[in-house]
Amino acid sequence: MARKRTVAFSRNAVNLFFHLLTRCNLDCRHCYINPDQHGTATLPLATVRRWLEAFQPRSRETNLVLLGGEPTLHRDLAHIIRLAREMRFGSLTVDTNGYLFHDILARVTPAEVDYFSFSLDGPTAEINDPLRGEGAFDACVDGIRRAVAQGFATSLIYTVSRANIDHLDRMGPLLKDLGITRFFIQVIGLRGRSAHPSGGPGTEPPEQVSREQWLNVIPPTAARVADLGISVTYPKVFLDPGEPFACAGLVAENYFVFPNGRVYRCPLCEDHPLHSLVFSDDRLVAMPPINEQDLFALTIPEGCVMNRLIQPGNIEYRPDGRPAYQIACCLLKEELRAE
Ligand code: SF4
Ligand code: SF4
Repeated sequence: MARKRTVAFSRNAVNLFFHLLTRCNLDCRHCYINPDQHGTATLPLATVRRWLEAFQPRSRETNLVLLGGEPTLHRDLAHIIRLAREMRFGSLTVDTNGYLFHDILARVTPAEVDYFSFSLDGPTAEINDPLRGEGAFDACVDGIRRAVAQGFATSLIYTVSRANIDHLDRMGPLLKDLGITRFFIQVIGLRGRSAHPSGGPGTEPPEQVSREQWLNVIPPTAARVADLGISVTYPKVFLDPGEPFACAGLVAENYFVFPNGRVYRCPLCEDHPLHSLVFSDDRLVAMPPINEQDLFALTIPEGCVMNRLIQPGNIEYRPDGRPAYQIACCLLKEELRAE
């Protein structure tokens, strides 16, 4: 049996999510990248070096996730990984759609990359490809098999929406077959293309699932996958009665860096000019009010303030006007550790 625990925000580690570019070879219907807010630049190596230096671990461990867009489209990715190792960043993950450009697997070693984290949104091409693009399933599975064969540890992210929640249960056997050791279930957020559909046939974003669907499907499915010996992590989303609410923006150190220089502390703020920090002449400087920091401190009965502002549809109210439950911080996770 897997052991379940709620992963409270770590006060001992810093997590740095570094978007090296926003360009991508795919055009997922729920892509969270918003070029109007995140820019279209690919950061030059010299800039990446200076921005990494701003977060270089000092007293506390700093975990690094390199992402995009598609980070393997960055021709200097192998160099950046080596640079991060020299700077003594903690665990290092590369988030990829699986196409693994620039022969990246041949240019880095399993000692340099802790995880290649792949994204699939269905157990077959029939489910995945209408969401992520024609051929995306085969390319990703091929990328995972090559990474595992070369000794890299691999994880997989599945973004749950109404379009694929009924197929989540079939992911367990596939993950086992592929040799994936960590499974991350994500909830689709109202940002990027989900909040700003581009229009056109077949491009409408998949819808968020209801609370009932989430609670009926996600915890039991996660438990079944964990029983296969795979660690599973999923967002808490809905707090249990009496469970305390906390905003990671106040009690943890997570930084989400974009190539236009914006640095956010909260992923739900990324679609808005609410970033708390910005790189100016390669120096990290605080933004003046009003920014996301001013929102973190607000206390509301619904729990997460940003959720209340941008996706209030997932809150239900009692007849007396009080919310029926609180929405957790999007960074609060449930973790099922394979024993
Ligand atoms: S969600 Fe990821 S893989 Fe899909 S288009 Fe956006 S950046 Fe690319
Ligand atoms: S998701 Fe909500 S609770 Fe979490 S950091 Fe953002 S504003 Fe705070």
